[in-house]
Amino acid sequence: MLDYPDVESRLQLIRMMRRAAPVASAVLVVEGVADQRALFPFLASDVTVLPVGGKNHVLDIFESLRQQNFPGVLCLVDCDGDIASRLKGQEGLILSVRRDMDADLLVELEAYERVILESVADKVASPGEGRRVARQIVELAEEVATTFGMVLRAAQKRKLPVKLLDLEMTVKRRVELRDVDLLVDWLSGSSAIPSVDVASRMGTVLHWPEDRIEYVIRDLEQLEDVECKKHFDISCRDCRGRAHANGHSLIEGICIALRAQYKVQMDRKDLERRVRLAVDPLALSRWEVWRRMSFWQASFKYSLLAGLSARMESNEE
Ligand SMILES: [Zn+2]
Repeated sequence: MLDYPDVESRLQLIRMMRRAAPVASAVLVVEGVADQRALFPFLASDVTVLPVGGKNHVLDIFESLRQQNFPGVLCLVDCDGDIASRLKGQEGLILSVRRDMDADLLVELEAYERVILESVADKVASPGEGRRVARQIVELAEEVATTFGMVLRAAQKRKLPVKLLDLEMTVKRRVELRDVDLLVDWLSGSSAIPSVDVASRMGTVLHWPEDRIEYVIRDLEQLEDVECKKHFDISCRDCRGRAHANGHSLIEGICIALRAQYKVQMDRKDLERRVRLAVDPLALSRWEVWRRMSFWQASFKYSLLAGLSARMESNEE
């Protein structure tokens, strides 16, 4: 990850990259290395990917580039509800469809089905049953990751800690699903856990003061009372999942559920890798991020996407 103190130094670096890059290849500015990993397989060989360490940095760079009319640079950010609506649909700035790029790969690109199907193949009677298992596991992981994400959102609004001391690592890390026993039970097949119970258990795990837990629960209830903008539905699972379930939790949830329910041993990193390799090309062409990237590439003639730029080059011949 590049660590530069201010926007101007980052822009300086982008200018240098721009000059060093082959004339018509794009520079892609992303939040972090996870995005870089997620997008790499789909990019043309000569694209420069620049992870800048967070959404605010990407947005600062985007604003400055726009003011300076700087060509050939495309910015990408996670769509996690903090994005001002004026930024949506801007040329040169693309938002993930779900909570982040990893969640997009997993759900929007339907990569989960192949990976889960393969890992449970010897535990089910038919491919049909395997597909049902895959859907059921992903729906469960999404439901759990959504509740977890909503509690974290409420906690962060109250400026409560979301990190804990990892006993093995002796460093502080962000809380994960596996740290909350109720969530592990839920993923293991017990009945759904009310979000209020999840919030209070997370409060205990993260040492939130008792009265703060009450605030979090109140905020959470407000969050759950919001009607989705797309379907005007107060209990829309689809929109809630898009907004709150991030890729990291989804992957972790799938691993826990597969282990508990089907005795499949697969760690998060392994699943992540497999998901990236299993993306369905048909689903890729329907993915909003991909569609906007191809549109950008076609409009500005900078090579960006793997398959498409090969076609562009052959057209030019
Ligand atoms: Zn909805």
